[in-house]
Amino acid sequence: MSTINKLSAAKRIVIKIGSTLLVDPERGTVHRKWLEALAEDLAACRAQGQQVVIVSSGAIAVGRRHLELPDGKLRLEESQAAAATGMIRLAHAYQEVLAHHDMTVAQVLVTLDDSESRRRYLNARNTLETLLKLGAVPLINENDTVATDEIRFGDNDRLAARVGAMISADTLVLLSNIDGLYDRDPRQFEGAKLVPVVSGDISADIQSMAGTSKSYDGSGGMVTKLEAARIAMGAGMRMVITDGTSPHPLRRIENGGPCTWFTPDATPKTARKRWIAGALKPSGEIIVDDGALKALQSGKSLLPAGVVRISGRFERGDAVVVKTNDGREIGRGLSAYSSDDASRIMGNKTSEIETLLGYRGRDEMIHRDDLALN
Ligand code: GLU
Repeated sequence: MSTINKLSAAKRIVIKIGSTLLVDPERGTVHRKWLEALAEDLAACRAQGQQVVIVSSGAIAVGRRHLELPDGKLRLEESQAAAATGMIRLAHAYQEVLAHHDMTVAQVLVTLDDSESRRRYLNARNTLETLLKLGAVPLINENDTVATDEIRFGDNDRLAARVGAMISADTLVLLSNIDGLYDRDPRQFEGAKLVPVVSGDISADIQSMAGTSKSYDGSGGMVTKLEAARIAMGAGMRMVITDGTSPHPLRRIENGGPCTWFTPDATPKTARKRWIAGALKPSGEIIVDDGALKALQSGKSLLPAGVVRISGRFERGDAVVVKTNDGREIGRGLSAYSSDDASRIMGNKTSEIETLLGYRGRDEMIHRDDLALN
């Protein structure tokens, strides 16, 4: 196996944990021993300087038993009640096991909208960045209590991929109850073979291996895992699927245990810049002076002081075109301020933002991570 497919090469890892691994379906209790072993793996990642983010399922599985709801499909409001009851218990379990390793857990519940709508996207991204910077371990789940059917992800595989893309993680681990992608349904065909690596993109051949529905995996199914892989690869993030049933699944991946790696062509940084440069429709322009132009070209962020004019109407998080005074387009970026606020602070020092706006926003008008130069 090449060194690139080692977990130890990761800097920022999102780990998705499926409910079948975590929760006893009969009793609705958390598998404590398993979680304690996982906490040891997470502590080992942290000791190597890796940042970890957990996306955990299981809130509904825990809550429905606690509330003594019937077996079978729940009504939407019943799953919401179950999630509200279960999430607090789940978070408590994570908090306890990680506290043994001096790790702080921070619960973040997201809805699809948080990664689709740009203003909320920027806010969620900033919160997660800040938590990671402060050394906390974000524990993420879908906000099932408020998410109605139209805005629900419904599966945490894709949610984890979106979260990973949002924070430019380099590796996504899906801990499931299957070793990875098989060339045929292993429950129907004895000779089915595990595919160790999928690189570049998800071809029609690979797609057909997943079957059509929740074929051979209990939770989201292989189909949603491939959708997660597509999102991950598009964001320049590696993804690995493995069976997390036995203790220490992360150690097992590192030691070359059975799994499927999905490896992208781009890095998270280049993929994000490509997304900013190509996929978003700009709604305004920010005109900068020569000093700012030089700063941007040397890899710095755009500060309000270097901005000479704003045109168009945009909200915080919207894409804008960055131009020089003589009208030349030098790049595109996501503005940290609305056009109104940007007009108020342009030409001023960062230290004056709070006095001018009445709140303390970001230091930069466009952060360098949110800027794609031509
Ligand atoms: N958000 C759901 C829960 O925590 C799980 C979704 C999934 O299993 O993918 O119960």
